[in-house]
Amino acid sequence: MIHIVGGGLAGCEAAWQAASRGVRVTIHEMRPVTPTPVHKTDRLAELVCSNSLRSDKPDNAVGVLKQEMRLLGSLVMRAADQTRVPAGAALAVDRLKFSEAITRAIEEHPVVDVVREEITAIPEPADERSPVILATGPLTAPALSRAIAQLVGQSHLYFYDAVGPIVLAESIDGQTVFRASRWGRSLRGDDPGEIAGAADGDYLNCPFDAGQYARFYDALVHAEPAEVHDFDREHFFEGCLPIEVMAHRGVETLRFGPMKPVGLVDPRTGRYPYAVVQLRQDTLAGDHYSLVGFQTQLKWGEQARVFRLIPGLEHAEFVRFGMIHRNTYINAPTVLRETWQTRRDGRLFFAGQISGVEGYVESAASGLLAGVNAAALARGDAPSVPPRTTAIGALSYYVSHADAADYQPTNITFGIMEPLVAAGREGRHKGDKLARKLAIADRAFADVQQWAASSVIGGR
Ligand SMILES: Cc1cc2nc3c(=O)[nH]c(=O)nc-3n(C[C@H](O)[C@H](O)[C@H](O)COP(=O)(O)OP(=O)(O)OC[C@H]3O[C@@H](n4cnc5c(N)ncnc54)[C@H](O)[C@@H]3O)c2cc1C
Repeated sequence: MIHIVGGGLAGCEAAWQAASRGVRVTIHEMRPVTPTPVHKTDRLAELVCSNSLRSDKPDNAVGVLKQEMRLLGSLVMRAADQTRVPAGAALAVDRLKFSEAITRAIEEHPVVDVVREEITAIPEPADERSPVILATGPLTAPALSRAIAQLVGQSHLYFYDAVGPIVLAESIDGQTVFRASRWGRSLRGDDPGEIAGAADGDYLNCPFDAGQYARFYDALVHAEPAEVHDFDREHFFEGCLPIEVMAHRGVETLRFGPMKPVGLVDPRTGRYPYAVVQLRQDTLAGDHYSLVGFQTQLKWGEQARVFRLIPGLEHAEFVRFGMIHRNTYINAPTVLRETWQTRRDGRLFFAGQISGVEGYVESAASGLLAGVNAAALARGDAPSVPPRTTAIGALSYYVSHADAADYQPTNITFGIMEPLVAAGREGRHKGDKLARKLAIADRAFADVQQWAASSVIGGR
Protein backbone atom coordinates (compact mmCIF):
# COMPACT_ATOMS: atom_id res chain seq x y z
CA MET A 1 0.00 0.00 0.00
CA ILE A 2 1.27 3.47 -0.94
CA HIS A 3 0.13 6.73 0.65
CA ILE A 4 0.37 9.80 -1.53
CA VAL A 5 -0.13 13.24 0.00
CA GLY A 6 -1.44 15.71 -2.61
CA GLY A 7 -3.71 14.97 -5.56
CA GLY A 8 -2.10 17.38 -8.02
CA LEU A 9 -0.30 16.58 -11.24
CA ALA A 10 2.52 14.70 -9.52
CA GLY A 11 0.36 12.88 -7.00
CA CYS A 12 -2.15 11.67 -9.60
CA GLU A 13 0.56 10.51 -12.01
CA ALA A 14 2.33 8.67 -9.19
CA ALA A 15 -0.93 7.02 -8.12
CA TRP A 16 -1.71 5.96 -11.69
CA GLN A 17 1.70 4.41 -12.24
CA ALA A 18 1.58 2.48 -8.98
CA ALA A 19 -2.02 1.37 -9.48
CA SER A 20 -1.22 0.25 -13.03
CA ARG A 21 1.29 -2.11 -11.45
CA GLY A 22 -1.39 -3.53 -9.19
CA VAL A 23 -0.31 -1.70 -6.04
CA ARG A 24 -2.98 -0.23 -3.74
CA VAL A 25 -2.83 3.53 -3.33
CA THR A 26 -4.50 6.09 -1.07
CA ILE A 27 -4.31 9.74 -2.14
CA HIS A 28 -4.84 12.31 0.61
CA GLU A 29 -6.01 15.56 -0.97
CA MET A 30 -6.97 18.49 1.23
CA ARG A 31 -9.23 20.32 -1.22
CA PRO A 32 -12.09 21.19 -0.87
CA VAL A 33 -11.81 20.79 2.93
CA THR A 34 -8.82 23.15 3.02
CA PRO A 35 -8.37 25.43 -0.01
CA THR A 36 -5.11 26.82 -1.43
CA PRO A 37 -4.71 30.45 -2.54
CA VAL A 38 -4.70 29.44 -6.25
CA HIS A 39 -6.78 26.31 -6.83
CA LYS A 40 -10.38 27.12 -7.77
CA THR A 41 -12.06 23.69 -7.85
CA ASP A 42 -12.14 20.44 -5.91
CA ARG A 43 -10.85 18.45 -8.90
CA LEU A 44 -7.61 16.54 -8.87
CA ALA A 45 -4.71 17.73 -11.07
CA GLU A 46 -6.07 21.24 -11.48
CA LEU A 47 -3.93 23.49 -13.68
CA VAL A 48 -3.47 26.58 -11.54
CA CYS A 49 -2.48 29.05 -14.21
CA SER A 50 -1.78 28.64 -17.93
CA ASN A 51 -3.61 25.88 -19.83
CA SER A 52 -0.47 25.15 -21.85
CA LEU A 53 1.85 22.21 -21.25
CA ARG A 54 4.35 23.96 -23.55
CA SER A 55 5.93 22.58 -26.71
CA ASP A 56 4.91 19.21 -28.09
CA LYS A 57 7.73 18.99 -30.63
CA PRO A 58 10.81 16.75 -30.34
CA ASP A 59 13.16 19.67 -31.07
CA ASN A 60 12.19 21.05 -27.67
CA ALA A 61 13.24 19.28 -24.47
CA VAL A 62 9.80 19.47 -22.91
CA GLY A 63 8.40 17.95 -26.10
CA VAL A 64 10.83 15.06 -25.66
CA LEU A 65 9.83 14.66 -22.02
CA LYS A 66 6.16 14.49 -22.98
CA GLN A 67 6.75 11.82 -25.61
CA GLU A 68 8.78 9.75 -23.14
CA MET A 69 5.91 10.03 -20.66
CA ARG A 70 3.48 8.80 -23.31
CA LEU A 71 5.78 5.84 -23.90
CA LEU A 72 5.69 5.16 -20.16
CA GLY A 73 1.88 5.15 -20.02
CA SER A 74 1.39 8.55 -18.38
CA LEU A 75 -2.13 9.42 -17.23
CA VAL A 76 -1.39 13.16 -17.39
CA MET A 77 -0.32 12.85 -21.02
CA ARG A 78 -3.31 10.67 -21.89
CA ALA A 79 -5.69 13.24 -20.39
CA ALA A 80 -3.82 16.10 -22.10
CA ASP A 81 -4.01 14.41 -25.51
CA GLN A 82 -7.72 13.70 -25.02
CA THR A 83 -8.55 17.29 -24.08
CA ARG A 84 -6.14 19.25 -26.26
CA VAL A 85 -7.20 22.50 -27.87
CA PRO A 86 -5.53 24.14 -30.91
CA ALA A 87 -2.30 25.89 -29.86
CA GLY A 88 0.19 25.52 -32.72
CA ALA A 89 3.33 23.67 -31.69
CA ALA A 90 2.27 23.67 -28.04
CA LEU A 91 0.07 21.20 -26.22
CA ALA A 92 -2.68 23.25 -24.61
CA VAL A 93 -5.72 21.68 -22.98
CA ASP A 94 -9.26 22.47 -21.95
CA ARG A 95 -8.40 22.83 -18.28
CA LEU A 96 -11.77 21.67 -16.90
CA LYS A 97 -12.00 18.61 -19.13
CA PHE A 98 -8.35 17.84 -18.39
CA SER A 99 -8.74 17.74 -14.62
CA GLU A 100 -12.10 15.98 -14.94
CA ALA A 101 -10.52 13.24 -17.06
CA ILE A 102 -7.80 12.71 -14.46
CA THR A 103 -10.21 12.86 -11.52
CA ARG A 104 -12.42 10.26 -13.18
CA ALA A 105 -9.53 7.93 -14.03
CA ILE A 106 -8.20 8.09 -10.48
CA GLU A 107 -11.52 7.87 -8.66
CA GLU A 108 -12.74 4.98 -10.80
CA HIS A 109 -9.54 2.98 -10.47
CA PRO A 110 -10.31 -0.16 -8.44
CA VAL A 111 -7.12 -0.01 -6.34
CA VAL A 112 -7.06 3.76 -5.66
CA ASP A 113 -8.85 5.51 -2.78
CA VAL A 114 -9.07 9.28 -2.52
CA VAL A 115 -9.49 10.75 0.96
CA ARG A 116 -10.27 14.45 1.21
CA GLU A 117 -8.31 15.61 4.25
CA GLU A 118 -5.42 17.88 5.13
CA ILE A 119 -2.35 16.00 6.26
CA THR A 120 -0.48 17.91 8.97
CA ALA A 121 2.41 15.53 9.76
CA ILE A 122 4.53 13.31 7.55
CA PRO A 123 2.85 9.88 7.56
CA GLU A 124 5.06 7.16 9.02
CA PRO A 125 5.47 4.26 6.54
CA ALA A 126 3.90 1.19 8.18
CA ASP A 127 6.70 -1.11 6.93
CA GLU A 128 9.32 -1.55 4.22
CA ARG A 129 6.64 -2.17 1.61
CA SER A 130 4.41 0.81 2.44
CA PRO A 131 6.13 3.87 1.00
CA VAL A 132 4.87 7.45 1.27
CA ILE A 133 5.05 10.08 -1.48
CA LEU A 134 4.86 13.76 -0.57
CA ALA A 135 3.48 15.63 -3.58
CA THR A 136 1.87 18.67 -2.00
CA GLY A 137 3.08 21.20 -4.52
CA PRO A 138 4.31 24.80 -4.38
CA LEU A 139 1.57 25.81 -1.94
CA THR A 140 1.96 23.01 0.58
CA ALA A 141 -0.23 23.74 3.60
CA PRO A 142 1.60 25.39 6.53
CA ALA A 143 1.48 22.57 9.13
CA LEU A 144 2.94 20.01 6.71
CA SER A 145 5.50 22.56 5.53
CA ARG A 146 6.70 22.88 9.10
CA ALA A 147 6.97 19.10 9.40
CA ILE A 148 8.94 18.93 6.15
CA ALA A 149 11.25 21.72 7.32
CA GLN A 150 11.93 19.69 10.45
CA LEU A 151 12.64 16.59 8.40
CA VAL A 152 14.98 18.12 5.82
CA GLY A 153 16.40 20.87 8.03
CA GLN A 154 15.04 24.42 8.17
CA SER A 155 17.65 25.74 5.76
CA HIS A 156 16.78 23.13 3.10
CA LEU A 157 13.12 24.07 2.60
CA TYR A 158 12.42 27.22 0.63
CA PHE A 159 9.23 29.22 0.39
CA TYR A 160 10.17 31.53 -2.41
CA ASP A 161 11.63 31.10 -5.84
CA ALA A 162 13.54 34.10 -7.14
CA VAL A 163 15.42 33.35 -10.33
CA GLY A 164 17.09 35.40 -12.97
CA PRO A 165 16.67 34.55 -16.64
CA ILE A 166 18.85 31.79 -18.12
CA VAL A 167 20.33 32.05 -21.60
CA LEU A 168 21.91 29.53 -23.93
CA ALA A 169 25.72 29.84 -24.04
CA GLU A 170 25.93 29.63 -27.82
CA SER A 171 23.63 32.66 -28.14
CA ILE A 172 25.98 34.93 -26.13
CA ASP A 173 28.24 37.20 -28.21
CA GLY A 174 31.75 36.04 -27.30
CA GLN A 175 33.27 39.11 -29.00
CA THR A 176 31.57 41.45 -26.52
CA VAL A 177 31.61 39.66 -23.17
CA PHE A 178 34.77 38.85 -21.21
CA ARG A 179 35.48 36.22 -18.61
CA ALA A 180 36.61 37.38 -15.16
CA SER A 181 35.91 36.99 -11.48
CA ARG A 182 35.65 40.14 -9.38
CA TRP A 183 39.14 41.14 -8.18
CA GLY A 184 40.46 38.08 -10.01
CA ARG A 185 39.18 35.72 -7.32
CA SER A 186 38.50 32.69 -9.44
CA LEU A 187 36.87 29.58 -7.99
CA ARG A 188 38.53 27.33 -10.55
CA GLY A 189 41.47 27.96 -12.83
CA ASP A 190 41.03 25.97 -15.96
CA ASP A 191 38.42 25.58 -18.65
CA PRO A 192 39.44 28.09 -21.24
CA GLY A 193 36.78 28.49 -23.90
CA GLU A 194 36.31 30.66 -26.91
CA ILE A 195 35.54 33.76 -24.88
CA ALA A 196 38.18 36.45 -24.32
CA GLY A 197 40.23 35.86 -21.17
CA ALA A 198 38.64 32.48 -20.74
CA ALA A 199 41.16 31.14 -18.26
CA ASP A 200 40.66 34.13 -15.98
CA GLY A 201 37.48 33.71 -14.09
CA ASP A 202 34.17 32.16 -13.27
CA TYR A 203 31.79 34.70 -14.79
CA LEU A 204 31.07 36.04 -18.23
CA ASN A 205 30.76 39.81 -17.95
CA CYS A 206 28.63 41.97 -20.22
CA PRO A 207 30.26 45.44 -20.22
CA PHE A 208 28.20 48.65 -20.62
CA ASP A 209 29.38 52.13 -21.56
CA ALA A 210 27.42 55.11 -20.19
CA GLY A 211 25.16 55.39 -23.25
CA GLN A 212 24.29 51.70 -23.28
CA TYR A 213 23.53 51.84 -19.57
CA ALA A 214 21.22 54.84 -19.98
CA ARG A 215 19.25 53.08 -22.73
CA PHE A 216 19.00 49.86 -20.74
CA TYR A 217 17.95 51.69 -17.57
CA ASP A 218 15.24 53.59 -19.39
CA ALA A 219 13.84 50.40 -20.96
CA LEU A 220 13.92 48.59 -17.61
CA VAL A 221 12.03 51.22 -15.61
CA HIS A 222 9.38 51.50 -18.33
CA ALA A 223 8.94 47.77 -18.92
CA GLU A 224 5.60 46.14 -18.17
CA PRO A 225 5.41 43.95 -15.06
CA ALA A 226 3.55 40.64 -15.06
CA GLU A 227 0.33 40.26 -13.10
CA VAL A 228 1.37 39.43 -9.58
CA HIS A 229 -0.77 37.49 -7.10
CA ASP A 230 -1.21 39.04 -3.66
CA PHE A 231 0.48 36.05 -2.07
CA ASP A 232 3.50 36.65 -4.29
CA ARG A 233 3.73 40.22 -3.06
CA GLU A 234 3.89 39.19 0.57
CA HIS A 235 7.54 39.74 1.19
CA PHE A 236 10.51 40.64 -0.89
CA PHE A 237 13.69 40.16 1.01
CA GLU A 238 16.12 43.02 0.55
CA GLY A 239 18.57 40.47 -0.81
CA CYS A 240 16.33 39.35 -3.66
CA LEU A 241 14.43 42.40 -4.85
CA PRO A 242 13.21 42.31 -8.45
CA ILE A 243 15.74 44.08 -10.65
CA GLU A 244 13.08 46.53 -11.86
CA VAL A 245 12.11 47.45 -8.27
CA MET A 246 15.76 48.14 -7.52
CA ALA A 247 16.04 50.26 -10.68
CA HIS A 248 13.08 52.40 -9.61
CA ARG A 249 15.02 53.45 -6.51
CA GLY A 250 17.38 55.53 -8.63
CA VAL A 251 19.49 55.52 -11.76
CA GLU A 252 22.66 54.66 -9.85
CA THR A 253 21.23 51.91 -7.63
CA LEU A 254 22.02 49.07 -10.04
CA ARG A 255 25.59 50.31 -10.55
CA PHE A 256 26.12 49.90 -6.81
CA GLY A 257 24.23 46.59 -6.72
CA PRO A 258 24.04 43.71 -9.21
CA MET A 259 25.58 45.77 -12.05
CA LYS A 260 28.59 46.92 -10.04
CA PRO A 261 31.65 47.10 -12.33
CA VAL A 262 34.47 47.49 -9.77
CA GLY A 263 37.02 44.70 -9.69
CA LEU A 264 36.16 43.62 -13.24
CA VAL A 265 38.78 44.80 -15.72
CA ASP A 266 37.75 44.49 -19.35
CA PRO A 267 40.85 43.01 -21.07
CA ARG A 268 40.05 44.99 -24.21
CA THR A 269 40.15 48.41 -22.53
CA GLY A 270 42.21 47.67 -19.43
CA ARG A 271 39.55 49.51 -17.39
CA TYR A 272 36.40 48.86 -15.44
CA PRO A 273 33.33 49.23 -17.66
CA TYR A 274 30.62 51.77 -16.70
CA ALA A 275 28.39 48.90 -15.53
CA VAL A 276 28.40 45.11 -15.86
CA VAL A 277 25.90 42.26 -15.98
CA GLN A 278 27.48 39.04 -14.79
CA LEU A 279 26.52 35.65 -16.24
CA ARG A 280 27.13 32.55 -14.16
CA GLN A 281 27.49 29.12 -15.72
CA ASP A 282 25.15 26.38 -14.56
CA THR A 283 27.22 23.62 -13.00
CA LEU A 284 25.59 20.67 -14.73
CA ALA A 285 24.09 22.24 -17.82
CA GLY A 286 27.36 23.77 -19.01
CA ASP A 287 25.69 25.48 -21.93
CA HIS A 288 23.38 27.57 -19.73
CA TYR A 289 24.23 30.90 -18.12
CA SER A 290 22.05 32.79 -15.62
CA LEU A 291 21.97 36.56 -15.22
CA VAL A 292 23.23 37.11 -11.68
CA GLY A 293 20.94 39.21 -9.46
CA PHE A 294 18.33 39.61 -12.21
CA GLN A 295 15.31 38.05 -10.50
CA THR A 296 12.34 39.86 -11.97
CA GLN A 297 8.58 40.05 -12.27
CA LEU A 298 8.55 41.55 -15.75
CA LYS A 299 6.39 39.91 -18.42
CA TRP A 300 8.35 37.31 -20.40
CA GLY A 301 8.11 39.26 -23.65
CA GLU A 302 9.39 42.34 -21.85
CA GLN A 303 12.28 40.40 -20.38
CA ALA A 304 13.35 39.29 -23.86
CA ARG A 305 13.08 42.87 -25.20
CA VAL A 306 14.85 44.62 -22.30
CA PHE A 307 17.53 42.04 -21.55
CA ARG A 308 18.57 41.88 -25.21
CA LEU A 309 19.75 45.48 -24.70
CA ILE A 310 22.53 44.05 -22.53
CA PRO A 311 25.80 44.13 -24.53
CA GLY A 312 26.59 40.57 -25.59
CA LEU A 313 22.98 39.38 -25.22
CA GLU A 314 21.57 41.07 -28.34
CA HIS A 315 20.70 37.66 -29.79
CA ALA A 316 20.25 35.75 -26.55
CA GLU A 317 18.06 32.68 -26.56
CA PHE A 318 16.26 32.41 -23.24
CA VAL A 319 16.09 28.92 -21.78
CA ARG A 320 14.02 30.20 -18.89
CA PHE A 321 12.75 33.64 -17.93
CA GLY A 322 13.24 35.19 -14.52
CA MET A 323 10.52 35.02 -11.92
CA ILE A 324 9.70 35.50 -8.30
CA HIS A 325 6.87 33.50 -6.85
CA ARG A 326 5.72 31.66 -3.81
CA ASN A 327 7.09 28.16 -4.12
CA THR A 328 7.65 25.58 -1.43
CA TYR A 329 10.51 23.31 -2.47
CA ILE A 330 13.29 21.29 -0.94
CA ASN A 331 16.98 21.62 -1.64
CA ALA A 332 16.73 18.50 -3.77
CA PRO A 333 20.45 17.64 -4.13
CA THR A 334 20.82 17.42 -0.34
CA VAL A 335 17.56 15.57 0.23
CA LEU A 336 16.88 13.27 -2.72
CA ARG A 337 18.33 10.28 -4.49
CA GLU A 338 18.00 9.95 -8.24
CA THR A 339 15.01 7.64 -7.68
CA TRP A 340 13.05 10.46 -5.92
CA GLN A 341 13.47 8.63 -2.60
CA THR A 342 14.86 10.67 0.27
CA ARG A 343 18.46 9.97 1.16
CA ARG A 344 17.64 9.44 4.81
CA ASP A 345 14.67 7.06 4.37
CA GLY A 346 14.14 5.10 1.16
CA ARG A 347 10.46 4.63 2.01
CA LEU A 348 9.80 8.35 1.77
CA PHE A 349 9.60 10.05 -1.64
CA PHE A 350 9.10 13.62 -2.84
CA ALA A 351 7.49 14.38 -6.20
CA GLY A 352 6.24 17.41 -8.09
CA GLN A 353 7.09 21.04 -7.62
CA ILE A 354 8.02 20.53 -3.95
CA SER A 355 10.74 18.08 -5.04
CA GLY A 356 12.59 20.89 -6.81
CA VAL A 357 11.35 20.71 -10.38
CA GLU A 358 9.58 23.51 -12.21
CA GLY A 359 6.49 23.25 -14.40
CA TYR A 360 3.40 21.13 -14.98
CA VAL A 361 5.09 18.52 -17.16
CA GLU A 362 8.21 18.21 -15.01
CA SER A 363 6.01 17.85 -11.91
CA ALA A 364 4.03 15.06 -13.53
CA ALA A 365 7.25 13.40 -14.79
CA SER A 366 8.73 13.30 -11.30
CA GLY A 367 5.46 11.85 -10.05
CA LEU A 368 5.68 9.19 -12.74
CA LEU A 369 9.06 7.92 -11.55
CA ALA A 370 8.20 8.30 -7.86
CA GLY A 371 5.08 6.19 -8.51
CA VAL A 372 7.02 3.57 -10.46
CA ASN A 373 9.67 3.32 -7.75
CA ALA A 374 7.25 3.37 -4.82
CA ALA A 375 5.42 0.51 -6.56
CA ALA A 376 8.75 -1.29 -6.90
CA LEU A 377 9.30 -1.07 -3.14
CA ALA A 378 5.75 -2.21 -2.46
CA ARG A 379 6.38 -5.27 -4.63
CA GLY A 380 9.79 -5.99 -3.18
CA ASP A 381 11.71 -4.88 -6.30
CA ALA A 382 14.65 -2.47 -6.53
CA PRO A 383 14.00 1.12 -7.68
CA SER A 384 15.59 2.32 -10.90
CA VAL A 385 15.53 5.30 -13.28
CA PRO A 386 16.05 5.65 -17.02
CA PRO A 387 19.52 6.81 -18.16
CA ARG A 388 20.57 10.46 -18.51
CA THR A 389 20.22 10.20 -22.27
CA THR A 390 16.47 10.48 -21.62
CA ALA A 391 14.78 13.68 -20.52
CA ILE A 392 13.10 12.00 -17.56
CA GLY A 393 16.37 10.39 -16.45
CA ALA A 394 18.26 13.66 -16.88
CA LEU A 395 15.72 15.47 -14.71
CA SER A 396 16.13 12.84 -12.00
CA TYR A 397 19.89 13.15 -12.17
CA TYR A 398 19.80 16.94 -12.11
CA VAL A 399 17.61 17.33 -9.02
CA SER A 400 19.75 14.87 -7.08
CA HIS A 401 23.18 16.07 -8.28
CA ALA A 402 23.00 19.82 -9.01
CA ASP A 403 24.97 22.32 -6.96
CA ALA A 404 23.24 22.34 -3.58
CA ALA A 405 24.72 25.71 -2.66
CA ASP A 406 22.72 27.54 -5.26
CA TYR A 407 19.84 25.17 -6.01
CA GLN A 408 16.94 26.47 -8.09
CA PRO A 409 13.99 24.40 -9.30
CA THR A 410 14.52 23.36 -12.87
CA ASN A 411 12.66 22.93 -16.11
CA ILE A 412 13.79 20.18 -18.46
CA THR A 413 16.26 21.46 -21.07
CA PHE A 414 18.58 19.80 -23.57
CA GLY A 415 21.43 21.27 -21.51
CA ILE A 416 20.93 18.78 -18.67
CA MET A 417 20.65 15.75 -20.96
CA GLU A 418 23.76 13.78 -21.87
CA PRO A 419 25.29 15.41 -24.95
CA LEU A 420 25.57 13.40 -28.15
CA VAL A 421 29.31 13.61 -28.10
CA ALA A 422 29.44 11.04 -25.30
CA ALA A 423 27.68 8.60 -27.57
CA GLY A 424 29.98 9.40 -30.46
CA ARG A 425 27.21 10.91 -32.60
CA GLU A 426 28.29 14.56 -32.36
CA GLY A 427 30.30 14.48 -35.56
CA ARG A 428 27.35 13.90 -37.84
CA HIS A 429 25.29 16.74 -36.40
CA LYS A 430 27.92 19.33 -35.52
CA GLY A 431 26.77 22.79 -36.46
CA ASP A 432 23.20 21.75 -37.22
CA LYS A 433 21.28 22.57 -34.06
CA LEU A 434 17.96 21.13 -35.18
CA ALA A 435 19.45 17.84 -36.36
CA ARG A 436 21.37 17.56 -33.09
CA LYS A 437 18.21 18.05 -31.03
CA LEU A 438 16.26 15.55 -33.10
CA ALA A 439 19.07 13.01 -32.73
CA ILE A 440 19.02 13.51 -28.95
CA ALA A 441 15.25 13.03 -29.04
CA ASP A 442 15.50 9.79 -31.08
CA ARG A 443 18.12 8.44 -28.72
CA ALA A 444 15.92 9.37 -25.73
CA PHE A 445 12.85 7.57 -27.13
CA ALA A 446 14.87 4.43 -27.85
CA ASP A 447 16.53 4.47 -24.43
CA VAL A 448 13.36 5.08 -22.45
CA GLN A 449 11.69 2.15 -24.19
CA GLN A 450 14.71 -0.02 -23.60
CA TRP A 451 14.62 0.90 -19.91
CA ALA A 452 10.92 0.10 -19.71
CA ALA A 453 11.41 -3.23 -21.46
CA SER A 454 14.46 -4.31 -19.48
CA SER A 455 13.34 -3.27 -16.03
CA VAL A 456 10.81 -5.25 -14.04
CA ILE A 457 9.36 -2.01 -12.78
CA GLY A 458 9.58 0.05 -15.96
CA GLY A 459 7.17 -2.23 -17.77
CA ARG A 460 3.72 -2.74 -16.35
C1 LIG B 1 0.58 30.53 -8.98
C2 LIG B 1 1.29 29.48 -9.74
C3 LIG B 1 1.20 29.45 -11.12
C4 LIG B 1 1.86 28.46 -11.86
N1 LIG B 1 1.74 28.46 -13.20
C5 LIG B 1 2.34 27.52 -13.94
C6 LIG B 1 2.19 27.50 -15.36
O1 LIG B 1 1.50 28.35 -15.93
N2 LIG B 1 2.82 26.54 -16.06
C7 LIG B 1 3.57 25.58 -15.45
O2 LIG B 1 4.11 24.72 -16.16
N3 LIG B 1 3.73 25.57 -14.11
C8 LIG B 1 3.14 26.52 -13.33
N4 LIG B 1 3.30 26.52 -11.96
C9 LIG B 1 4.24 25.58 -11.33
C10 LIG B 1 3.79 24.11 -11.18
O3 LIG B 1 3.97 23.46 -12.38
C11 LIG B 1 2.38 23.89 -10.72
O4 LIG B 1 2.28 24.45 -9.47
C12 LIG B 1 1.98 22.39 -10.68
O5 LIG B 1 0.64 22.32 -10.37
C13 LIG B 1 2.78 21.58 -9.70
O6 LIG B 1 2.27 20.27 -9.62
P1 LIG B 1 2.27 19.50 -8.21
O7 LIG B 1 1.58 18.22 -8.39
O8 LIG B 1 3.64 19.50 -7.67
O9 LIG B 1 1.43 20.46 -7.24
P2 LIG B 1 -0.18 20.80 -7.27
O10 LIG B 1 -0.72 20.60 -8.64
O11 LIG B 1 -0.29 22.12 -6.62
O12 LIG B 1 -0.77 19.67 -6.35
C14 LIG B 1 -0.51 19.63 -4.97
C15 LIG B 1 -1.79 19.21 -4.27
O13 LIG B 1 -1.50 18.99 -2.91
C16 LIG B 1 -2.57 19.48 -2.13
N5 LIG B 1 -2.06 19.73 -0.77
C17 LIG B 1 -1.20 20.70 -0.36
N6 LIG B 1 -0.92 20.56 0.95
C18 LIG B 1 -1.62 19.47 1.39
C19 LIG B 1 -1.73 18.81 2.64
N7 LIG B 1 -1.08 19.24 3.72
N8 LIG B 1 -2.55 17.72 2.74
C20 LIG B 1 -3.22 17.25 1.65
N9 LIG B 1 -3.15 17.85 0.43
C21 LIG B 1 -2.34 18.94 0.30
C22 LIG B 1 -3.06 20.69 -2.89
O14 LIG B 1 -4.41 21.00 -2.58
C23 LIG B 1 -2.88 20.26 -4.33
O15 LIG B 1 -4.03 19.69 -4.88
C24 LIG B 1 2.65 27.48 -11.19
C25 LIG B 1 2.75 27.51 -9.80
C26 LIG B 1 2.07 28.49 -9.07
C27 LIG B 1 2.18 28.50 -7.57
